Amino acid sequence: MEFNTAGLISLQEALDKMRGHIPPKTAQDAESVALDTAAGRVTAAPVLSPVFVPPFDNSAMDGYAVRCADLHDGAVLPVSGKAFAGAPFHGEWPAGTCIRIMTGAPVPEGADAVVMQEQAEVSDAGVRFTHAVTSGQNIRLTGDDIKQGDSVLSQGVRLGAAELPLLASLGVTEVQVWKTLKVAVFSTGDELQPVGTPLQEGQIYDTNRFAVRLMLEQLGCTVLDLGIIRDDPQALRKAFEEANAFADLVISSGGVSVGEADYTKQMLDELGEIGFWKLAMKPGKPFAFGKLKNSWFCGLPGNPVSAALTFYQLVQPFIAQLAGHTAWQFPPRLQAVAVTPLKKSAGRLDFQRGIYSTNAQGQLEVRTTGHQGSHVFSSFSQANCFIVLERDRDNVAAGEIVEIEPFNALLRS
Ligand code: AMP
Ligand code: MG
Repeated sequence: MEFNTAGLISLQEALDKMRGHIPPKTAQDAESVALDTAAGRVTAAPVLSPVFVPPFDNSAMDGYAVRCADLHDGAVLPVSGKAFAGAPFHGEWPAGTCIRIMTGAPVPEGADAVVMQEQAEVSDAGVRFTHAVTSGQNIRLTGDDIKQGDSVLSQGVRLGAAELPLLASLGVTEVQVWKTLKVAVFSTGDELQPVGTPLQEGQIYDTNRFAVRLMLEQLGCTVLDLGIIRDDPQALRKAFEEANAFADLVISSGGVSVGEADYTKQMLDELGEIGFWKLAMKPGKPFAFGKLKNSWFCGLPGNPVSAALTFYQLVQPFIAQLAGHTAWQFPPRLQAVAVTPLKKSAGRLDFQRGIYSTNAQGQLEVRTTGHQGSHVFSSFSQANCFIVLERDRDNVAAGEIVEIEPFNALLRS
């Protein structure tokens, strides 16, 4: 595997390298689960319908089922029975009569049309129809919607509120899904403390593990949280080994710069195959990617905004592919008018945090959340989108058009 790349590499190049290394999934990666435990799982095979939908010819209207042969100008048809949803008509149906029928009721045998009640005049003698009737009208035919054996969901689809009710409506009880991805996560840094512990001089709370764990859970991963690991080769080695024994993917944060206490690279040279990249994006460099003995590895930068951003932009698409979620899509980018100036210097693709809205003319506009430092995590909670400024772009003046990328479900509450 060729991971190492000198100099700055683009986000796209990094993504291509990461996703390009993933082997295709095999049958061993799949399992069958009951429908009521399948939420959030990803289909490992197309789901085929076991039934026809609708399962029988039924009425699309409240009205009268007729035989077209009985209809002539001025004909009045007595009603000789009723068909309701769940209560079909099975009685004798003499020629020259009609059957009262409700929406969803099975169409009585021999009927070739249903006339809606708004086109019927009812008298003591029977029913007279006020409009021309064509054969087949208002009858929903068996299998009109779905035929038995039709594929109703493709492979690689995440099962949620749009999919599971459909499978339930077909009577599907089990579905083939990819096994859940196991991800181990830890933060590195002597300065870090878990929430709930008083801070000593020079200490800060661990933000990144919180962010990463939450995003992993939303992506449907099983998470092993190994906590905060000290900047000590021995402790790090132990964490890496434990993580690798459990996980398909190991994610750390911090320790990937070139400071004296940054041991991540040393550990990975020892325990796996690793590429350290300086990404031509802001915030976000540096970022590590590679392989341990049994697992993939992503080393996020320590600064919380950089960690969350690189997770969102790089690890999220990587996980989607590892999880077999081929229907996953990159968040779309839209054009908006910047209504505040944006500070930028050419050289790196910049993901500023912004707030977009629609103005009175129906145009998208966007303003900055303010200070864009890579330690200002509140910029995420104020924002609803990234303002994506191309690598070569300089300062943006108010009134210029920029690209925005609305947050997807990972960052939207
Ligand atoms: P590092 O990459 O370890 O040099 O960290 C870069 C910066 O991010 C330093 O200011 C660290 O204190 C900070 N940092 C590292 N990890 C975390 C974390 N888990 N939560 C909050 N800040 C962090
Ligand atoms: Mg550190």
